[in-house]
Amino acid sequence: MKLANILYVHHSGTLAGGDIALLRQIAALDKNLYHTHVTLFEEGPLLELLRCRGISAEVLQGFGSLSRQKKENMKGISLLNLSTAGQISALIGALQGVMLSRQIALVHTNTLKAHLPGGLAARRLGLPLVWHMHDRIAPDYLPRPMVALLRKTARWLPDTVIANSVCTLRTLQLPRRKPAAVVYPGLPLDEAVIGRPPVFDAPVIGMVGRFAPWKGQHVFLEAASLAVKKAPGLRFRLIGAPLFGEDDYALRLKQQAKEAGLEDKLEYTGFRNDIPQQVADLDMLVHCSIIGEPFGQVIVEGMAAERPVIASQGGGALEIIQDGINGILTPMGDAQALADAMLKIVQNAEASVEMGKKARERVLAKFTIDKTADAVEAVYSRLLA
Ligand code: UDP
Repeated sequence: MKLANILYVHHSGTLAGGDIALLRQIAALDKNLYHTHVTLFEEGPLLELLRCRGISAEVLQGFGSLSRQKKENMKGISLLNLSTAGQISALIGALQGVMLSRQIALVHTNTLKAHLPGGLAARRLGLPLVWHMHDRIAPDYLPRPMVALLRKTARWLPDTVIANSVCTLRTLQLPRRKPAAVVYPGLPLDEAVIGRPPVFDAPVIGMVGRFAPWKGQHVFLEAASLAVKKAPGLRFRLIGAPLFGEDDYALRLKQQAKEAGLEDKLEYTGFRNDIPQQVADLDMLVHCSIIGEPFGQVIVEGMAAERPVIASQGGGALEIIQDGINGILTPMGDAQALADAMLKIVQNAEASVEMGKKARERVLAKFTIDKTADAVEAVYSRLLA
C-alpha cells in the first residue's frame, strides 16, 4: 500500500502539553501507512526532539514573531500577527510550497496559530484538512474576537475537527452535522513508570506543569500552607517552569511560599525532561487549574504511576477521573477543599494506595497512546478513502 504523506502544521517549538501530545502521537502512527512531516514557525526544543525520534521536521523561517505573540493580545485577524496582507499570504504561500514539494495528501493543523494559515493553504490546494484542537475555544481562555473567529471558521474550513476532550469539542459549538471526533491524548506505556510504592506518613506532594496563573500554582501553595498546619510532616514539590514569559508569576510564587513559611518544606525542580521518574518519586500528585483544563495530560501521568491524584473539578479532568474511585476532584480555586483532600489521602493510606492502583487501570483502559493513534488513523483513512 502506498504511504500517505501527512503534513503537521504546528506553530510552537516549545515543550508544553500540545507539543508533547504531538510528539507522542506522531511516534505512535503506523509507519507503514503514513509518512509525517512537521512544520514549525519557530526554533525550540521540540524541533530537536522530533528529529531525535526520527520524525521529519523543519522550521519555516520568518514567522517566529507570530509564534511568540501572546494569545491574550491576539484580536481577530491580528491572530496572525502579520502586519500586512503580504505577510499573511507569505506564510500561506510557504505552507503551500511545502505541501506541493512533499506531495502532501492530508494536512493536520495542531495549534491555535496554525489552524488558519495551515487551513487556508490546504484549502487552496484542495487537500483534506483536520483541525486538532488542544485548547478550549472559550472567552475565559482566549480573547473574544479570537473565540468568534475560530468558532465560525471551524464550521467550514476543516473537513474534520479532532478535539482532545468532550469539553474542548463543546467549546467550539459546532453544528451537529459537522464531522468531529474526540481523541484523548494518550500516554506511551514506556512513560508510565510505577516506581516505589507511595508512602503517606511523610509524603511528598507534587504539582507538575508550566508556571502560569491559570494553572493555579498559587492555589497549590495556599492549600499546602493550610494542610501543613494539620500535618507538619508534609513536603511539597513544584515541577515545571514558566514557558511563555510568566516570570513575574514565578517570582510571586516564591514570595507567597516565603510569607507562608513553606520554604523549608518546598522544593522547586525547574523544567524537567524526566517527568515519568519525577512523578514516580512523588507520593501524591495535585493538579489545580483555576479554569477548565482542555484535557490535562499531567493528570494521566500521575494516575499511570499509581499515584493518588487530586484534580480541579472542571474541563477535561471530569473525563479522566471518576471522583472518589480513581482520584479526587475538588472545586476549582478552592484551596481549603484541596488541603482537605490532601489530608484525606494521607490519613487513609490503604484506600489511597488502592485509589492509585485503580487510577493506573483507568489509564490503561482509556488513555494509552495506541488508542490515540488508532482514532487519528481512523479519521485519516476516512478522509483519504
Ligand atoms: N512537563 C514536562 N516538564 C515539566 C513540566 C511539565 O515535560 O517540567 C510536561 C508534562 O509532563 C505534560 C505536559 O508538560 O506532559 C503538560 O501537559 P498538560 O496537558 O498537562 O498541560 P498543558 O501544558 O497542555 O497546558
